[in-house]
Amino acid sequence: MSWRYGRSLGIDPVPPPKRCSFNCVYCQLGPTKILIQSLDAVENELPDEEQILNDLDEYLRQISIESLDVVTFSGSGEPTANLRLGEMVRTVRKRLPNLPVVLLTNGSFLGNPQVMKNLRELDIVTVKFDAGDDKTHRKINRPCYAFQHSQLARDIQNLRKTTRVTIALEVMLLKLASGISNVSGSPRNSLVSEISKLAPVVDLVQLYTPWRPPVEQEVQPISTAQLKDFASDLNDAFDSDRIWIYGIHDARKQSASWKSHQSLCDDILIMLQRRPCRLKDLVQSLDIPINSLLSLISQLRQSNKITARQYQNELYYFHQNSD
Ligand code: SF4
Repeated sequence: MSWRYGRSLGIDPVPPPKRCSFNCVYCQLGPTKILIQSLDAVENELPDEEQILNDLDEYLRQISIESLDVVTFSGSGEPTANLRLGEMVRTVRKRLPNLPVVLLTNGSFLGNPQVMKNLRELDIVTVKFDAGDDKTHRKINRPCYAFQHSQLARDIQNLRKTTRVTIALEVMLLKLASGISNVSGSPRNSLVSEISKLAPVVDLVQLYTPWRPPVEQEVQPISTAQLKDFASDLNDAFDSDRIWIYGIHDARKQSASWKSHQSLCDDILIMLQRRPCRLKDLVQSLDIPINSLLSLISQLRQSNKITARQYQNELYYFHQNSD
């Protein structure tokens, strides 16, 4: 699911448990279970295009293709870690030739020639860019190796030179209770400066804040006014139509239409495994009436499969393994 591009069908080239080269403080999937230092180490653990196609066909039996706007490759971790990604995108396109295909990546493997080749198959590549300096990057994204942030900017420039994909930066703006923040002081200045330097090669900047309850309690979102204020700092380098602000440019106005659900309880659990949701998120994403949902939620709570917690005056449901 992606608010940025409308109603999305999600593909997971990296299924649970979470495998990633980062361990971001705000990650909805909780702590990274398997830290990826080298792509060779995970090569044999990840699904191939045939498995992805089987899952996709199962999903397409339940959901109406006409109600989808986009296919998004994200996964339970870093999707570029699956080196069969390019073949997977080609396979998915055969089934869904009219939908744009998007990839969300942390950018840590862009220096790998096979990863770069795979990215040529996408329509839109969205690269995480939360810091303009190594120190802030290590505090927010907590990479598992000596990842140089300056290398990420070079890799994004290289991506531009070698592909025609639309490139977007996804910038998560936040504060931590410890005082670390990328919206104040020198971390903010360096982030604005580094994003601005990429203006000639990047099509879009997406400003985001962790509005769902974070797994790590020290993460604090910023307000819409602060998001707008940050956006105004980018206006020297980017026209306003190249900056999307979460909560303002929300493309997701309606839900995908389901033809049927094989198991509504399983579908709810799968959604909550990916991220905590409110009732309205589940109603919208699963296309089910509120009364049916309430009864299922009650069953799942009684069987201790999900929990609930208030956050910013809203009630969120969690998969019991993620709270
Ligand atoms: S890069 Fe994405 S999946 Fe990996 S830890 Fe960060 S938010 Fe989670």
